Amino acid sequence: MTDVLQVGGFVPFTTIDFPGRNAAVVFCQGCMWRCSYCQNKELQSFVDAGSNDERGGQNDERGGQNGEHKEMRPFVNAASNGEHNDVTLNVLKRPTWEYVLEKIYVRRNFLDGVVFSGGEPLAQNAIINAVQDVRNFGLQVGIHTSGAYPELLDDLVTCTNGKPLLDWVGLDIKTCFDEYDALTGAPGSEYLVTRSLDILLGSSVCFDCRTTVDPKYVSPEHVIKIARELRNKGVLVYKLQQCYDRERNPVYSPCFENEFAKQLQSLSARKF
Ligand code: SF4
Repeated sequence: MTDVLQVGGFVPFTTIDFPGRNAAVVFCQGCMWRCSYCQNKELQSFVDAGSNDERGGQNDERGGQNGEHKEMRPFVNAASNGEHNDVTLNVLKRPTWEYVLEKIYVRRNFLDGVVFSGGEPLAQNAIINAVQDVRNFGLQVGIHTSGAYPELLDDLVTCTNGKPLLDWVGLDIKTCFDEYDALTGAPGSEYLVTRSLDILLGSSVCFDCRTTVDPKYVSPEHVIKIARELRNKGVLVYKLQQCYDRERNPVYSPCFENEFAKQLQSLSARKF
């Protein structure tokens, strides 16, 4: 893997992917996990920026090298399943980091920060330099992570020169801890996520734990169990997210209008 961040997509402006901030979103290419419900499978493979296959071959969709960046419909981030604000209508697919950084620099006075999503941002060591690049513009930095890389997370939330490199982390809690390995298809993922959570709990960086509620994989009973597990760890706030399709529609909206929705709503008022 190169020292330069491999980018899978870029959203120049969002108001909801980095809580409380106007931000740009950088979708990082590559993820080691293979969650059964992943909606961003095109971001799973580790490919070179500017290529569209795993062999690194280039074609007309490449970005950054010929100045043409294919504009795509926005996709939903599987790692966060975040909704993107209506103004984020164009996603640049697979631009180079150099190209993205230039766009961020031009917009720096209109942005509070940049949030790295994926794929899995921490799957690339190059994320450290990319985060530093953004901070050099005076912008805040957030990350959406699955928790699969606790050591790199530790590096980013540990204070260097009196300040951590990250301002906020969104940690996905995909399911109950004892069902992690089955869902991610990666033995040992439960350990990695709990280690990442412990690191965040011991850091000074603000973070959210959130679960994307896809009724195919997450039941109200799962939500209750996850909430209890998080409470026992010391987490004070746990968020639930609707699951969206590529056209940004709630995939299981009928479910959220029926008994399932009522159960979830009743949970939101409960303390665990
Ligand atoms: S961690 Fe996120 S990007 Fe990776 S496979 Fe799972 S849902 Fe997809």
